[in-house]
Amino acid sequence: MPLPVLEATAEVAADLKHKLKEVFGYGQFRGTQEAVIKNVLTGHNTFVIMPTGAGKSLCYQLPALVVPGTAIVISPLIALMKNQVDQLGAFGVNAQVYNSTLTKSEMKRVQRDVVSGEVRLLYVAPESLNKDETIEFLQRSNISFVAIDEAHCISEWGHDFRPEYRRIRGIIDHLGPNIPIIALTATATPKVQLDIQKNLHMDDASVFKTSFNRTNLYYEVRAKHNTKKQLIQYIKQRKGKAGIIYCLSRKKVEEIAELLRVNDIRARPYHAGLDQQVRIDNQDAFLNEDCDVIVATIAFGMGIDKPDVRFVVHYDAPKSIEGYYQETGRGGRDGLEGDCLMFYSYDDILKLEKFSKDKPVTERDNARQLLQEMTNYAESAVCRRRQLLHYFGENLDTDCGFCDNCRHPKERFEGEEAVGLALRAVVQTEARFNLDHIGQVLMGLTNPHIESYGHNGLPVYAQGKELGDAQFWHSVLRQCLLNDFLEKDIDSIGLVRITDRGIDFIENPRSITLTKDHNFEEEQKADEEKEEVQHAAGHDEVLFSQLKELRRQVAKQKNLPPYVLFQDPSLKEMATTYPTTLHDLTHVSGVGQGKAQKFGAPFVAAIKKYVEDNDIVTAEDVVVKSAVNRSKNKIFIIQQIDKKMMLEDIAQARGLDMRELMEEIEHICYSGTRLNLDYYLEDMVDEDKQEEIYDYFMNASTDNIAVALKDLGTDDFTEEELRLVRIKFISEVAN
Ligand SMILES: [Zn+2]
Repeated sequence: MPLPVLEATAEVAADLKHKLKEVFGYGQFRGTQEAVIKNVLTGHNTFVIMPTGAGKSLCYQLPALVVPGTAIVISPLIALMKNQVDQLGAFGVNAQVYNSTLTKSEMKRVQRDVVSGEVRLLYVAPESLNKDETIEFLQRSNISFVAIDEAHCISEWGHDFRPEYRRIRGIIDHLGPNIPIIALTATATPKVQLDIQKNLHMDDASVFKTSFNRTNLYYEVRAKHNTKKQLIQYIKQRKGKAGIIYCLSRKKVEEIAELLRVNDIRARPYHAGLDQQVRIDNQDAFLNEDCDVIVATIAFGMGIDKPDVRFVVHYDAPKSIEGYYQETGRGGRDGLEGDCLMFYSYDDILKLEKFSKDKPVTERDNARQLLQEMTNYAESAVCRRRQLLHYFGENLDTDCGFCDNCRHPKERFEGEEAVGLALRAVVQTEARFNLDHIGQVLMGLTNPHIESYGHNGLPVYAQGKELGDAQFWHSVLRQCLLNDFLEKDIDSIGLVRITDRGIDFIENPRSITLTKDHNFEEEQKADEEKEEVQHAAGHDEVLFSQLKELRRQVAKQKNLPPYVLFQDPSLKEMATTYPTTLHDLTHVSGVGQGKAQKFGAPFVAAIKKYVEDNDIVTAEDVVVKSAVNRSKNKIFIIQQIDKKMMLEDIAQARGLDMRELMEEIEHICYSGTRLNLDYYLEDMVDEDKQEEIYDYFMNASTDNIAVALKDLGTDDFTEEELRLVRIKFISEVAN
């Protein structure tokens, strides 16, 4: 039944505002909401493109409350439906779910309530809508309008195609004549938008498109290199803030969540393979701020709306710009800061391509096209926001100044000649070829394709050989698209054609600045070299000598040889990682709990002062602790020594020779664990000798065994004796 046309606009507006406040508690509409709602109420078809978080669902929920009858809401995600229905229920609105999760009797009840007109909104999954029984009872009901949520699922060019969505139009036609439709999506390229309208037979729809520009989000792409270290550093710089880390696989999710946990970051995993209760608990912990970071597959975040997510990291490259946009869109919903970081490597893209290799041809080609766009985005050094918005059919006239490419511009060059050539190549090949082919023509390559079309005879053929390689031309052509000299052919994927602006450029060439693409492989190499240099330079010499001096003073006070406190390698490491707490100090090799407690305080105090005085960004937070188990040998050896087992037996039990066992024991001891070997020494070294060796180490300037052997004389002492007593000495004095 067509809706009565509402003419008293002012009255309607007042009524809508009243309902908005009364039911949903909002004082005003946001963006295009009010215009959309009024359009729905006139009975016209409506098409809404609105980014996630902009208040999309209100566009059909509110009109459903002011018109007679039941509004049908088609939504692909059962979990999401339930969520919305619960929310509406809490507002006192009669909304129901109708899908496969209901029992037979529940279905009957819902049917009865809809037919009697009690239900304002009925959420239906497209699969259920297909059933005869559903159509039959809906035909007996008074349907006010149909809302199709996530309408991009209709288009096979979208990133989330669902075949059953393509049948929706036919079903609506069965429900009754002239039922108005409102289609909504949070993501649609111009091509997908056209496809949706065609499929739903709503070319006449009023289109309401909200800008996709999320001005508070900062976009950044980094090479996937030393990623774990970068990630930990990134999160520690945002201490206590909420963030989401997206990974592609469940395995990766688990691995990264564990990595973050051992690095003292409150992180939890979330993926479909987890027990449902664990998933719910982890999601709640994130919402209730019991954990700061959720590491998840893209399944996470669908139903939740946490306004203060401060950063979103893509640990792996996403499958499409749509996905990337949606996931980054979960950051900064409250309008405050939202940092979006993607780690990119072309290897990831190749991996993703493999995933779709068994899919039908169209689907595979489309997946590849989406990935190509992702690669273009990541590798381009043009303003990220311009690229993103252009992808969704919006043009930003100037660079945003708030993305990595704007903040750290890459090399630029005068592009007048290159743009002129690229545009002429598109015209001369008659707009029937993709970017790769056009690039090949410009570079003067030969292949059967080029020959069969006679493109080697075109005036532009080989004219661009001197200017650059395939990547260069690909980049130039993409920047022609961004500058509106070229446009994508909406009907044929991958093809481009010239615009009026492009023709004008050919006729009146002018100066234009282009940007060179990122070359992440080269950038990575440069990074590694820089690190090597830093590594060779090693520790901070000034701090190292200060720490040595401090060690000398403290040792003197305590009447101990300096090396007993900390050995040189430990001091060097301190002068590299700048530990400023006792806890951090225990991460330095050769420093265990005991040693840190016993000697650490003056050292961390000195380091802290040094760091503050010199404005040093401490590197400790980027020391990546891996989640490896402690050596099984280590625990076994400590336990056996506690039980006073003979060392020979311990060695035999672990399949070690005595030298190997001794090394393990020394390692344990030097890491700060106190070992009592008296029971063994009693049998092996007589008491006078023990005392002599002990005194020697107490007064020596080093604990080097070779030096000790030389000083004490090989006639009276064996290396084994010295090493055993040294373990006793270090255990008692240093640990
Ligand atoms: Zn920018």
